Amino acid sequence: MAWDFETEPEFEEQLAWMRGFVKEEIFPLETLGLDYETTLRVIAPLQDQVKAQGLWAAHLPPSLGGMGFGQVRLGLMHEILGQTPLGPVVFGNNAPDSGNAELLAIGIEETGRQDQREQWLQPLLDGKLRSAFSMTEPETAGSDPTLLQTRAERDGDEYVINGHKWFSSNGSVADFLIVMAVTNPDVHPYQGSSMILVPTGTNGVDIVRDVATMEHPETEFGRFGNHAEIYYRDVRVPVANLIGREGEGFTLAQQRLGPGRIHHCMRWLGQSRRAFDMLCERAVSRTAHGSLLAEKQTIQNWVADSLAEMQAARLMTLHAAWKMDKVGAPAARLEIAMIKYFGAGVLFNVIDRAIQIHGALGFSCDLPLEHMYRAARAARIYDGPDEVHRQTVARRTLRNYAPHPIPSEHIPTRREEARQRFADLLERATADL
Ligand SMILES: Cc1cc2nc3c(=O)[nH]c(=O)nc-3n(C[C@H](O)[C@H](O)[C@H](O)COP(=O)(O)OP(=O)(O)OC[C@H]3O[C@@H](n4cnc5c(N)ncnc54)[C@H](O)[C@@H]3O)c2cc1C
Repeated sequence: MAWDFETEPEFEEQLAWMRGFVKEEIFPLETLGLDYETTLRVIAPLQDQVKAQGLWAAHLPPSLGGMGFGQVRLGLMHEILGQTPLGPVVFGNNAPDSGNAELLAIGIEETGRQDQREQWLQPLLDGKLRSAFSMTEPETAGSDPTLLQTRAERDGDEYVINGHKWFSSNGSVADFLIVMAVTNPDVHPYQGSSMILVPTGTNGVDIVRDVATMEHPETEFGRFGNHAEIYYRDVRVPVANLIGREGEGFTLAQQRLGPGRIHHCMRWLGQSRRAFDMLCERAVSRTAHGSLLAEKQTIQNWVADSLAEMQAARLMTLHAAWKMDKVGAPAARLEIAMIKYFGAGVLFNVIDRAIQIHGALGFSCDLPLEHMYRAARAARIYDGPDEVHRQTVARRTLRNYAPHPIPSEHIPTRREEARQRFADLLERATADL
């Protein structure tokens, strides 16, 4: 029976290399405040080292240039890379490019469209192209994508796309956008939506702004990690730009979002651990009211609770990843939904405690915690808000229960049933008394 918590020794060696590399080579770059172009030039030699280690773009199967790691190993890797926003970029598996590459790969596998592989997928994997995923609309609830209004109408060999999107992460630096649009309004959206690849320079693509956010309140247009607002006005692209088959948009989205959520959760654990280390370091360094903070019970509770919560989130995430590897993403839907809101909550709580123990220093920009905190808030919203994932978990769980007007554990009812069932036995047992 295989049921253990060990990592294969060879992979553990690779993880150890990643830990050292991320801490020694990538952490220091965070502090320099480099612009996007300079960052790309500075990290190029680091990316070469990652490639030399065979760890570049590890999320894809070997047939598509990846390492075929599977979700558990990828998860362990993301836990290390997620400690710093630059980690995934240096390893060629940053969102949204990694998810978009997976989407393209799934579509190509289905349709055999090798031209898409050469033109889009391979350059994306090589880090020569950047992409964005353009689904959410300001006018409709993103948490219910059956309401999408963006239309793609067929006109000969072309699609004509009209719609309004926002929060297309990296849209303003992307070479192409993957647009989710309704291709057939006469059927249920689950069968009537499609994903279409739109090069950013196509006529009618109007990227009006990068939306300033809590994470980047004073953002400049065209910064990596921004979230673009985009109008699509009579945008014409060849039908050959369809990903997968027409009407498969929802199926593809589900396949993309499952692994993406596991990777997010593991990256959040990397962030949580970094905040936790800061919390503990401060606890053993700062004295107030006659003793170290580490000796106060409240602080000890924070340490103990944070560690337990991170351990729970880690085991839940790795279990979801394991289930995906064993039986696929659709069968692991409950587990994936559960770690999405649980993991986001743990991340937020641990960073919050780490800020609190540092007092004014925690609130200041002299530590990375304030930025981590602002970024962490979004985790409860993107890839589906907490409430929607809780709803999924509750619905799937409650499905297994039948209504009982009298609770099935009602003791008087059970007592009566037991008396009848064991009447003979009870009579014999009490006869001689
Ligand atoms: C940092 C960040 C990056 C993003 N990146 C992308 C991207 O690259 N591409 C893209 O297309 N989108 C992206 N998004 C958008 C994201 O996917 C949506 O914000 C998300 O799906 C929620 O949609 P909405 O904002 O329209 O909120 P709404 O759907 O309007 O929901 C608002 C609130 O309503 C409540 N609610 C909704 N449904 C229920 C329910 N069933 N029960 C109880 N309460 C409910 C929840 O509290 C929810 O937060 C990003 C968002 C953020 C914050």
